[in-house]
Amino acid sequence: MINSSSPEVARNARPYLSGDEDALLLNALHSGQYNHSTVTDHFEEAVASILGVPETVAVASGTAALHLALLAAGIGQGDEVLVPSFTFCATVQAILATGAHPRFVEIDPATGCVEPTALIEALTPHTRAVIPVHYGGRGVDLSDAQATFIERGITVVEDAAHSFGSVTQGGPVGATGALTCFSFGPIKNLTCGQGGMIVPRNAQEADTCRRLRGLGIIQSAAWRTDAVTYEIDSFGMRVQMSGLNAAIGLGQLPHFERTSARRQTLWQSYAHALDGIPGVSLINVDIDRTVPHLCAVRVLENRDRVFSEMRAKGIGVGTHYPPNHQQPAFKAWYRALPVTEQMGQQIMTLPFHPHLTEHDTAHVACELRHAVTDEAGH
Ligand SMILES: *Cc1c(COP(=O)(O)O)cnc(C)c1O
Repeated sequence: MINSSSPEVARNARPYLSGDEDALLLNALHSGQYNHSTVTDHFEEAVASILGVPETVAVASGTAALHLALLAAGIGQGDEVLVPSFTFCATVQAILATGAHPRFVEIDPATGCVEPTALIEALTPHTRAVIPVHYGGRGVDLSDAQATFIERGITVVEDAAHSFGSVTQGGPVGATGALTCFSFGPIKNLTCGQGGMIVPRNAQEADTCRRLRGLGIIQSAAWRTDAVTYEIDSFGMRVQMSGLNAAIGLGQLPHFERTSARRQTLWQSYAHALDGIPGVSLINVDIDRTVPHLCAVRVLENRDRVFSEMRAKGIGVGTHYPPNHQQPAFKAWYRALPVTEQMGQQIMTLPFHPHLTEHDTAHVACELRHAVTDEAGH
């Protein structure tokens, strides 16, 4: 068992290409349209139709999606946004980009996700938005807090960077009516190379997002070819999704169900193989509704030693994520978050991507068992 693994276990994550990307990317390359293009339009329409929503707004990254969604929701200078400290730093940087500031909240250590009650407890008079992060792919259901949020004029912006393809109580992630942000970065469930997408709540919000991503210019590039001028009536940046990136995403989509099933199977094989390892607790992603992005465990004791031993054996473990409230850049918003701080010491992610086999997951679990029980080790 120990020696039957492939070199794939050395990678914590890795993009998975399904074969259709090459031709579509070459077509887009030879089309000579490298900005937002008709290929980007097709990708937006394809994702909207999969989700069953009227429209989507493609952007350059998941970070840009969060930034623009917050701006479109009217978030800016002086506003406070509730966010778990236990997330990728991009979530926090997107808040700061708007001029608003984060208020870090605790998570449930069993799932790595925020709970409605913790959010309600953390509200202040300055809170204007909350960002639940779908950690590991698990959709966060905030319906219990929805009435409070509506009453206080608080917008929910979902960081669904991990959860393309997952489903919550309210329906598929992105189709629940919430303002939702996906990432299609290199290692996400679906990749465009780089990319992100906003699912707006209505046509007006969609329009605002489109102006924000395209330098505030009202007219489309196609319209402008026949015109002597164009009009700008708002702030905007250049964070469109290139047609080159959209082509990669379009190549991934027809195979997405197969890749998702693969991710679920691998996660379940890890769950089986990890069962009963002392001092190791698997983060629960609610696998029946989730397309998992991570396989994360808590190593209850000596995580750093276990991490080094796994790395020394060529196994690509990671730590998603070191808490943000303890980062120098965000120290102005530090507050004691004991659960998150402990999570930061215990979290370890196992190699997880569709190139792995069930032999690989068994091998990783076997090495993990050795590492945690090897007390004489160091
Ligand atoms: C990847 C990620 C982002 C940012 O997406 P990019 O496409 O890398 O900009 C935001 N939040 C979380 C939780 C992520 O994992």
